[in-house]
Amino acid sequence: MTQAQAQTQAPLIDPFARSIDYLRVSVTDRCDFRCVYCMSETMNFLPKAELLSLEELDRLSSAFISLGVKKLRITGGEPLVRKGIMTYFEAMSRHLASGALRELTLTTNGSQLAKYAQDLADCGVKRINVSLDTLDDAKFKAITRWGRFSQVMEGVEAAVTAGLSIKINAVALKGTNDSEIHDMVAWCGTRGFDLTFIEVMPMGDMGEENRLDQYWPLSDVRAELARRWTLTDIALNTGGPARYVQVAETGGRIGFITPLTHNFCESCNRVRLTCTGQLYMCLGQEDDADLRAVLRANPDNAPLYAAIRNAIARKPKGHDFDYSRQKVAGEMSRHMSHTGG
Ligand code: SAM
Repeated sequence: MTQAQAQTQAPLIDPFARSIDYLRVSVTDRCDFRCVYCMSETMNFLPKAELLSLEELDRLSSAFISLGVKKLRITGGEPLVRKGIMTYFEAMSRHLASGALRELTLTTNGSQLAKYAQDLADCGVKRINVSLDTLDDAKFKAITRWGRFSQVMEGVEAAVTAGLSIKINAVALKGTNDSEIHDMVAWCGTRGFDLTFIEVMPMGDMGEENRLDQYWPLSDVRAELARRWTLTDIALNTGGPARYVQVAETGGRIGFITPLTHNFCESCNRVRLTCTGQLYMCLGQEDDADLRAVLRANPDNAPLYAAIRNAIARKPKGHDFDYSRQKVAGEMSRHMSHTGG
């Protein structure tokens, strides 16, 4: 075997013997919503030159797939507002067709699904996560500021029609959707959607919002759910930060994501790539690798493979997040792109 072949053929294994086969790719920092817990209403987004082009995203994602990544989750910002994004999905579908990639999926706010659900299904996407915190039109407006509930519902219907499986991700917000969680369980149960509650993280530039007012521990969410539903723990470990229960009455599943706890670090199989080509090896740690610089400096992929391997060799055993640190706007997307988001 030549050195070049060895570089592509050996799978990515980190220092703790974890096989890294899951890459989350943020394709944009932009979003058409301004969710109060995530972004301020006035955002400064990155200049285009900072972003990886669609061709660069293809090259970088394909490099990871050559190194054994089997699952790609596309996120953002809002991935479906990236201009020309279907070109990228089409490019990734070739890896599904070859068998190199097992799953291509995305996390979306649903606003563009009416337009793209069928195209996504045609590219081989089978499951998507739709972020939806409420079923109430007025609350939806209050949370997303710029979103339209009916547009998201049309998107969800289009996704169902296209045959996509849907998981709803809802951030648990005290004083906002706390009165609705039973309705959401019932709705998801009826529609055959899985549902995951995400604990709100005290991060991002939330402008005038008071983050402490919104915080609702998932232990309390679960206790409230247990008053009406029969919940049984299930041993579903996706390597991510969620714990799951089965709802006897609906047959559906509910996940609970406490983004910054240490759940399952020992089986963590994922790394995250930002839209500027920085690779983050762990949710709670700041260490990153600048893959864009390597990509742009080298038309040949060998240095890129080496840079990816070097980065994986620095993946820490677990994370140790300090809640007291304040993050700047834009950080949220980076962090949430690791979780259900
Ligand atoms: N735009 C896409 C979407 O809406 O799913 C992908 C990016 S969005 C940042 C990913 C997820 O992060 C969404 O489910 C969103 O609700 C969640 N999120 C954003 N800010 C959060 C926060 N402060 N705490 C918890 N979840 C948050």
